[in-house]
Amino acid sequence: MSLPSSLVSITTTTSLPIPQTYTYNNIYAYKFKSPFELKQLHAQIIKTNISYNLHFDQVASICALTPSFPYAQKLIQLYANKPETVIWNSCLKTLAESDSPFNAIRLFRRLLEYNVCLDCFSFSFLVKACTKVSGGGLDGRIVHGFIEKLGFMSNMFVLNSLVHLYAVSGEIDDARQVFDKMSERDVVTWNIMITQLVKRGNVDEAYALFCRMDERNVRSWTSMIMGFVQCGKPKEAIDVFTKMEEEKLCPNEVTVVAVLAACADIGALDLGKRIHEFSDRSGFKKNVRICNTLIDMYIKCGYVEAARSVFDEMEERTIVSWSAMIQGLAINGHGEEALELFSKMIQLRVKPNGVTFIGLLHACSHMGMVDEGRRYFASMSRDYGIVPRIEHYGCMVDLLSRAGLLKEAREFIKNMPIKPNGVVWGALLGGCRVHKNLEMAEEAIEHLLELDPLNDGYYVVLSNIYAEAKRWEDAARVRKLMRDRGVKKTPGSSSISIDGVVHEFVAGDETHPQRELIQERWEKLLEEMRLKGYEPNTSVILLDIEESEKVKFLYGHSEKLAVVFGLINTNNGTPIRIMKNLRVCEDCHAALKLISEIANREIVVRDRSRFHCFKNGVCSCKNYW
Ligand code: ZN
Ligand code: ZN
Repeated sequence: MSLPSSLVSITTTTSLPIPQTYTYNNIYAYKFKSPFELKQLHAQIIKTNISYNLHFDQVASICALTPSFPYAQKLIQLYANKPETVIWNSCLKTLAESDSPFNAIRLFRRLLEYNVCLDCFSFSFLVKACTKVSGGGLDGRIVHGFIEKLGFMSNMFVLNSLVHLYAVSGEIDDARQVFDKMSERDVVTWNIMITQLVKRGNVDEAYALFCRMDERNVRSWTSMIMGFVQCGKPKEAIDVFTKMEEEKLCPNEVTVVAVLAACADIGALDLGKRIHEFSDRSGFKKNVRICNTLIDMYIKCGYVEAARSVFDEMEERTIVSWSAMIQGLAINGHGEEALELFSKMIQLRVKPNGVTFIGLLHACSHMGMVDEGRRYFASMSRDYGIVPRIEHYGCMVDLLSRAGLLKEAREFIKNMPIKPNGVVWGALLGGCRVHKNLEMAEEAIEHLLELDPLNDGYYVVLSNIYAEAKRWEDAARVRKLMRDRGVKKTPGSSSISIDGVVHEFVAGDETHPQRELIQERWEKLLEEMRLKGYEPNTSVILLDIEESEKVKFLYGHSEKLAVVFGLINTNNGTPIRIMKNLRVCEDCHAALKLISEIANREIVVRDRSRFHCFKNGVCSCKNYW
């Protein structure tokens, strides 16, 4: 190898050390740590005329960002047995994946400056670096400019990266424009666009694209399922999953998590169980995220035993697993088990978080353990440095109100360092209803109506309280107030999942194919319920209509329809699980208690805020909700 002129001075004036050698990727190579050492080594190689084996990837990375760049480039051009672009790309890749991805952008500029021939990989590493450097990197338009200038606008691989870059830097419209103009797209292109739209909550646009795809892979389906779950459309998520199964595609771990989340939201226990079996068969048992989602799914479906067995079988648990299990036990009426589990967790030195304490406070609240609850509340900030959030205050008010300590609950609210929200006042209202404190109920309602004037649920509760106190005029006043304010009643709807199919009922549903059967069975139940003292509680109907009309409305409440449908379509002894979008009304609560006894069925209802497990004529909420 000949000697570049810049090295003459080094070879003639410096006394050189014996070259240190080492093996690099199993190749016998020389060791150097700086451009200076490289130059020394180079000179010595020439001087002593010994055989050499420079590692050119290393030459490139040592000199990439130094003034010796042109020197390294020359060495590579003259002696490397690989194209120069390949060597620099590997250097770009390493920098892009390092902790300082900005260096990849600096190197890219240098490559342009020294006219290094770039290829599609160079761009993909540049884009990778740009996406990692938020704010300080090159923005999409500059990269776009390079791509156009260097003639890569017909390269799909490069354009895919560009679409991705635009999208992750928040320029979703620019991403879409590039996407629309692409003459050729592969499944990766579509997936990038769909995933990014979903991440921005634009699920409808994502779905429109999804429908246009000729070929979809697991990733495409999974993104779509996730998208629907994230925007609160679990039914659509499950529909997409069903179609994916029809196409015989095998779900991966991400798909499993997304589908389980959909099952949890909609209470689709049958599908959830099937996914659980599939997950075990596929060897996903050790995936902590899947296990945590399974626990969550079973709890939200009111099947706490199954959640517990997933929890018990986990080899490794995170704080999410512990908190979910403690909370699940607490809200399903297993308060003691929840507290036991907490002691076990502390013994194992797992540090609790805010969610753990919500579970503990719920447990105490459900068991009426006021002092214990107070102790946990004090301990969370004192022993674990957790600042109580509004949810914790809500739990404390619930704990005190349930126990009938209404004055103390109100004092507690007044002394809160943060502004009480609807949940906090709602908890007090619940206590006032059960412990029949009309005055304080009015105060709570006043705050609630101020916070959320269009929530019809509060008017219902208030009218109910007046009706119970036989203050009919006040009850009428509430109805008038509601009308004057233009409050619209949210239509109640309940769903039940049977053999993997979700059946939805809205209040007064008269379109259901089984409506006659349902009506017949309801009449029969009603006879038996009357024998046990049931009387329709029409005070929950806030309409100025005839009493007989009110009764008709009452009997058409969606949870009643769903439960009767469940009784008809499931075998004896099978628990009936219902999801309700609103709070269960007093009348349905009373009716379902009786039905659980008459039909000898466990009925689990998840309403907007809690679970009711009706069994042998009683409810796990102890009539407090
Ligand atoms: Zn009802
Ligand atoms: Zn209940």
